[in-house]
Amino acid sequence: MAVKEFKAESKRLLNLMVNSIYTNKEIFLRELISNASDAIDKSYYRSLVDENVNFNKDDFYIRIAADKDKKTLTITDTGIGMTEKELEDNLGTIAESGSLAFKNENDIKDGVDIIGQFGVGFYSAFMVSDKVTVKSRSADSDKAYKWESEGAEGYSIEPCEKETTGTEIILKIKENTEDEKYDEFLDEYKIKLLVKKYSDFIKYPIKMMVKKSRPKKDNEKEYEDYFEDETLNSMVPIWRKNKNELKPEDYDQFYMDKHFGYDKPLRVIHSSVEGVVSYKTLLFIPARAPYDFYTKEFEKGLELYSNGVLIMEKCADLLPDYFSFVQGLVDSADLSLNISRELLQHDRQLKFIAKKIKDKIKSELLLMLKNNREKYIEFYNSFGKQLKYGVYSDFGANKEVLQDLLLFYSSTEKKLVTLDEYVSRMKEDQKYIYYAAGENVEKIEKLPQTELVKDKNFEILYFTDDVDEFAIKMLMKYKEKEFKSVSSKDLGFDSDDRESKKETEENKELFDFMKEVLKDKVKEVRASNRLKTHPVCLANEGEVSIEMEKVLKMMPNNQNIKADKILEINTNHQMFKAIKKAFQEDKDKLKVYSNLLYNQALLIEGLPVEDPVQFANDVCTLIK
Ligand code: ADP
Repeated sequence: MAVKEFKAESKRLLNLMVNSIYTNKEIFLRELISNASDAIDKSYYRSLVDENVNFNKDDFYIRIAADKDKKTLTITDTGIGMTEKELEDNLGTIAESGSLAFKNENDIKDGVDIIGQFGVGFYSAFMVSDKVTVKSRSADSDKAYKWESEGAEGYSIEPCEKETTGTEIILKIKENTEDEKYDEFLDEYKIKLLVKKYSDFIKYPIKMMVKKSRPKKDNEKEYEDYFEDETLNSMVPIWRKNKNELKPEDYDQFYMDKHFGYDKPLRVIHSSVEGVVSYKTLLFIPARAPYDFYTKEFEKGLELYSNGVLIMEKCADLLPDYFSFVQGLVDSADLSLNISRELLQHDRQLKFIAKKIKDKIKSELLLMLKNNREKYIEFYNSFGKQLKYGVYSDFGANKEVLQDLLLFYSSTEKKLVTLDEYVSRMKEDQKYIYYAAGENVEKIEKLPQTELVKDKNFEILYFTDDVDEFAIKMLMKYKEKEFKSVSSKDLGFDSDDRESKKETEENKELFDFMKEVLKDKVKEVRASNRLKTHPVCLANEGEVSIEMEKVLKMMPNNQNIKADKILEINTNHQMFKAIKKAFQEDKDKLKVYSNLLYNQALLIEGLPVEDPVQFANDVCTLIK
């Protein structure tokens, strides 16, 4: 019997399958089951439209049978079947769509990705078998044919016996190797697991004879084995059920079963959308971030189903990074399985769904914020940082989407507040949204820079996450109100400004001298308008703040970016008299004072003193 050669492209793909190092070989079963399901779809349709065909709903099923002795796994369907020519055309050549994803010949790594993302249909059987036999009888023929192949060398086709219409695929499972236990695919337990995992929602029953045990009739103390036909899949997925049929526990159970998380989801979004593109979605907002959430290892994505068939476990394109915490799935009949063979990112329908999902998540979060503040805060404590990264990244492209979801601790409310709440409370003469950045609320509470703003009874937002100030710099404004750091040079208080400018002018020589001592550590020394009781503080000018300098310093490839610092002196403070005196009588002493004040300001900011030994010596000089 003649062995025929595969078409060049098929040969390449087959070789890749046979020698696959891909770790997720188990997907072959999903591929074969979904082919079977497609074939049944066709005969089912025919039974509906053709009066000459008598049918019974029970006639449509898929059967799996494992033979451990022969090491074979058989998948049978009652689908439309294939003629001799169809066997030749369909299995001798890979589908057009498949070849599209496979153009890049020398990029085997890409090939592995193809398997990982979409599977590659029928040929994936060769990942686990060294011989594949397909016996098929078409609904249009009374003859059956057998297609057989042991891999890339070629295949044969010959007539065979088959009583009924449909297809039977017999896989001769590979011998175990050191790294791979192929024989687990013959385990009843494993097969059940794989069907549950990948094909639970296939519309037709997936049956298997399952070994059971029962007490013997004549002797109840002894047990006997018997076989019973079992349907392995549930056939109706939870997301296709009606919302009012489902209890919160059902969703929680599904969340657990799917290993979406080990917590209870904070919110479940279950919706069915009909329109240009129709789809169903079941989304979960977890309560807690997974342990690896804020690391590179975390992989975002939703499960993607095409009419109940899982085509991708983590479709990243369905979620923007800032909503990467969302778990769940999308099922759309408008995404055919064939589409999966192509580059999914370019799919128009998928983009459409992704956009809708993004809007939906946002509106659900806003609802939670409005109606259940406590829950929202729980959510925000887990994932607020991610939202803020979202504002910052992509040059602020998503700030509009995210700004109303942000919360910051308020100096006056003593709790987390939204920007909208802040702005609605702003005083008539208040120009800016004020904020102060620091390690934690307690530390910010004590910052000298906050004194004047607090004195005016203006609310201050406390930024305690590294990303906060970077995000706000991207945002720039909220409802036309600019953000202003309490440490920035100009706070927008004109009368106070005028006064401190006058003071600075009057003491110009003194401040110039101090600046001379401190050299380029500071840009300027001047009289402060923001200090009430504290003697000194650092203010800053320009884009990079002192908090940002600290964050940047901790980055792996930090470029030693520094904030422009201004040393501000409280001219109403007792200490200023001593400074003035030193300026007139003892310049060396003023040098010591200048360094001390600067170092003090650094300490208050939580910045390290540049020369601790010098600092200690200066203190001793004073004590002497
Ligand atoms: P795809 O399913 O993407 O077309 P496959 O390589 O999995 O690619 O299958 C190739 C073709 O072989 C299918 O399009 C179908 O026509 C045919 N085929 C595969 N399995 C079966 C089956 N169980 N019954 C009938 N036809 C099948």
